[in-house]
Amino acid sequence: MDKVRNLPLRKRIALVAHDHKKADLIDWVTYNKKVLVQHDLVATGTTGKMLQEELNYPVKRLLSGPLGGDQQIGALIAEGNLDIIIFFWDPMEQQPHDSDVKALLRLAVTWNIIIACNRTTADFVLTSILMNDDYPLVLPDYSGYLNRKITSI
Ligand code: PGA
Repeated sequence: MDKVRNLPLRKRIALVAHDHKKADLIDWVTYNKKVLVQHDLVATGTTGKMLQEELNYPVKRLLSGPLGGDQQIGALIAEGNLDIIIFFWDPMEQQPHDSDVKALLRLAVTWNIIIACNRTTADFVLTSILMNDDYPLVLPDYSGYLNRKITSI
């Protein structure tokens, strides 16, 4: 039987935006403030600072993305402590922490969590009827991988 993790009604949402996408995220957050303040918010350092000022609502701030913030969010995902990530990454600019960005995107898929990387998807996520209830998130089965035989040399 599939293992599930319950996503509660009050969800844990991470918000991250690269520098050229920050204005876009702030705009989106302002528009969706009424819904967002019903959830627990966490963000990378600089994004979080801007969001706190805009929302006037507590946003847990992690380190700045390039200084480890993306990896902190990755750890939240791996430990089952995050439900949704809104990640406005910049497709037009090389990032100093490209490897961290890639790792974060990978972990979101690895653990089947909700991820929106642009405004349209974020709109659809936030207005989904599934947001209005608990949701049984199906955890991928990695038992085959975990129990793999390692042949010694
Ligand atoms: P920042 O980090 O919010 O500290 O700018 C964003 C990112 O992960 O690049």
